Amino acid sequence: AHLDRIAAVEPQVNAFLHVDAETTLEQARVVDARRAAGEDLGPLAGVPIAHKDVFTTKDMPTTAGSKILEGWRPPYDATVTRRLREAGLVILGKTNLDEFAMGSSTENSAYGTTHNPWDLSRIPGGSSGGSSAAVAAYEAPLSTGTDTGGSIRQPAAVTGIVGMKPTYGGSSRYGVIAFASSLDTPGPFARNVMDAALLHEAFSGHDVMDSTSVDAPVPSVVEAARNADVAGLRIGVVKEFGGDGYQPGVLARFHETVELLESMGAKVFEVSCPSFDVALPAYYLIAPSECSSNLARFDAMRYGLRVGDDGTRSAEEVMALTRAQGFGPEVKRRIILGTYALSSGYYDAYYGQAQKVRTLIARDFEAAFQQVDVLISPTTPTTAFAIGERADDPLAMYLADLCTIPANLAGNAAISVPCGLADEDGLPVGLQIMAPVLGDDRCYRVGAAVEK
Ligand code: GLN
Repeated sequence: AHLDRIAAVEPQVNAFLHVDAETTLEQARVVDARRAAGEDLGPLAGVPIAHKDVFTTKDMPTTAGSKILEGWRPPYDATVTRRLREAGLVILGKTNLDEFAMGSSTENSAYGTTHNPWDLSRIPGGSSGGSSAAVAAYEAPLSTGTDTGGSIRQPAAVTGIVGMKPTYGGSSRYGVIAFASSLDTPGPFARNVMDAALLHEAFSGHDVMDSTSVDAPVPSVVEAARNADVAGLRIGVVKEFGGDGYQPGVLARFHETVELLESMGAKVFEVSCPSFDVALPAYYLIAPSECSSNLARFDAMRYGLRVGDDGTRSAEEVMALTRAQGFGPEVKRRIILGTYALSSGYYDAYYGQAQKVRTLIARDFEAAFQQVDVLISPTTPTTAFAIGERADDPLAMYLADLCTIPANLAGNAAISVPCGLADEDGLPVGLQIMAPVLGDDRCYRVGAAVEK
């Protein structure tokens, strides 16, 4: 049924980079056989899933949305891919994304833009916009994404679905094509909080293949989604998120949700996190710095594209030609920014300062979580913007992540759940719920309580 749905709506939505019905059906037959042999596969066995094309898959290509990896077939599965395969989920295909997960709209993909199923002229968010659109368009019941600066929560918000960024290190980065390693966090998309929780539990937990994986029990997120009780819970509204630049319809739905939580017995406080205002500039130094280092591996020798290797050119020339043709403009902009910020003479002024800001943000969270159990805010300042509207203005594009970035810099858990439609445009609005490190269960508990 999902393959049929994909065939019917993909010409309009363009959520997928790769669909291969035969491979999918073969996986489904394997699951049937395992079940028939008496294997206990868990609650999601046989459920189809779409993976963001940044997770390696041994039976499907992996491009990271870039020309530089066109045609690359990974020899191995990412830990997330492998664990879900073991749990019996069936892969429908690989979804579109901004190249190397850099963006907020999927417009930076080398393979065309994904369209928001609510309004095809609008962006589906990004960078995991193929994964959000696939779930919102009923092409897949579940999908995976990665969140480095909001790339799960922002696309979930603007397509009216649930998207969760687990605690950093709570889900494995092994086999996830790296963007900014101290921030990258795999997480689930689903159409309701319980489905997201089931998926979260199925792929999370310690992994010896990832040196920053947290060696702690996975928070009981399924139980928390079932519990959904906020009576007596202390909820902090982040004072810094909500003034100028926020769409009135976003703020209206947000304030209604705050009232709803109060009516369910939660105690709501306003909490100030003064350093959150400088999270965005700090992120746009740290993430490009890490990307400039991570993307050095695309050297035309090891993977994918190789341009101009005709026996007359040096390795350096082939590398330069390949990177010039293989990377898109946003990726190049970030490599240049990051190389500059890390170069000697500028390191202390830029990268060093950004790291200090990162510490201040972590301290704001620590202070806040002494007063409250969770923090809430709108997920994004606006609903889905029009395709093309911000494509030529990187700074306007970066504003989409204003509210999501603090949780990445501090490594906290954070979720986006739908909280209604904006009056101006009838488009979905997301509520962000942020919890302490390893407090992922609180996100699900509050999310399940307000979900509508
Ligand atoms: N939009 C942000 C960026 O462009 C976040 C991306 C992400 O989380 N992968 O960096």
